[in-house]
Amino acid sequence: MPRIAQGDPLVEDQELDRSLRPAVFDDFVGQSKVKEQLQIFLQAAREREDALDHCLFYGPPGLGKTTLAHLVSIGMGTQIRVTTGPVLEKPADLAGLLTNLQDGDILFIDEIHRLSTAIEEYLYPGMEDFKLDILIDRGPAARTLQLTLPRFTLVGATTRAGLLTSPLLARFGMSFRLDYYTADELLQILERSTRILDVSAQKEALYEIARRSRGTPRVANRLLQRVRDVAQVRGDGRITLPLTREALELLEIDVKGFDEMDKRLMRALIEKYRGGPVGLGTLAVTVGEDEGTLEEVYEPFLIREGFLERTPRGRKATRLALEHFGYPVAEDAQEKLL
Ligand code: ADP
Repeated sequence: MPRIAQGDPLVEDQELDRSLRPAVFDDFVGQSKVKEQLQIFLQAAREREDALDHCLFYGPPGLGKTTLAHLVSIGMGTQIRVTTGPVLEKPADLAGLLTNLQDGDILFIDEIHRLSTAIEEYLYPGMEDFKLDILIDRGPAARTLQLTLPRFTLVGATTRAGLLTSPLLARFGMSFRLDYYTADELLQILERSTRILDVSAQKEALYEIARRSRGTPRVANRLLQRVRDVAQVRGDGRITLPLTREALELLEIDVKGFDEMDKRLMRALIEKYRGGPVGLGTLAVTVGEDEGTLEEVYEPFLIREGFLERTPRGRKATRLALEHFGYPVAEDAQEKLL
């Protein structure tokens, strides 16, 4: 049966991510501090012929955490096993993965904040001493058997570092925070993507996409795909600035690349709370999102763009936010926003 044209956006995204994922550090744009440190630690571990220390990547979605996990494995010349926190339900799931690793292999656990407590506790001796206690039998005949594991490296990724327990955090030898990308960095990423996808594009057109990608490579690559579709249907396939603007309009992409939640949050803050200050908890209930997600996933971008301020009395919309969303700005804007 033919595949339905629409496709599953999540699967499409994963396929796109895979095809555009840099396979060498040189193609990994930006995050220079993270890259520099990581390359030093990788080289040191390689020279000692030792496994790399466990490492954690954290930051909002689509910024390159999975990509870096793969680069670590490529850099170490070892295999990578990929899983996610919620998939590991029983200790046996984890035991199965760990016992199949070889010395130096990478175990990548995405969404590591979603590991259950039982699995987490089971993981500690594995991370620390490369030992695993397996429970054999039940009831009176139950005994534990201790297995020695290969010296593996656990690479964890999370969008919600705040949810990790301190014992788990303490077991990572290094942790790296990924930050949003500048438009220039996203432009470089898009230029590489057009080469891989074999599409021709004007630089100004790619810059327009970069500016409107919410500082996120995954968003930039996804927009590039959609703009390419429009250029193919409404033009001759070449991505030009007018066609890009048309496509972004069609997709209702904000000039800043704000997504639905960004807009909902800013509108609630401005319309319901007169620009704030309002407490995070209240705001979270109003927009129907969990506090931590607002704080760790949405707010950083809005703050970086100068739309939102965290004050001791709560969150405030800035003058820039009012202007952007088309609300009147009072003269004494700093004190009272509306
Ligand atoms: P995360 O795991 O943080 O959600 P990914 O590593 O899956 O993000 O990145 C999403 C996609 O964005 C990747 O497939 C890759 O194509 C692209 N990407 C992310 N970071 C970079 C980067 N620094 N340079 C080039 N491409 C990147």
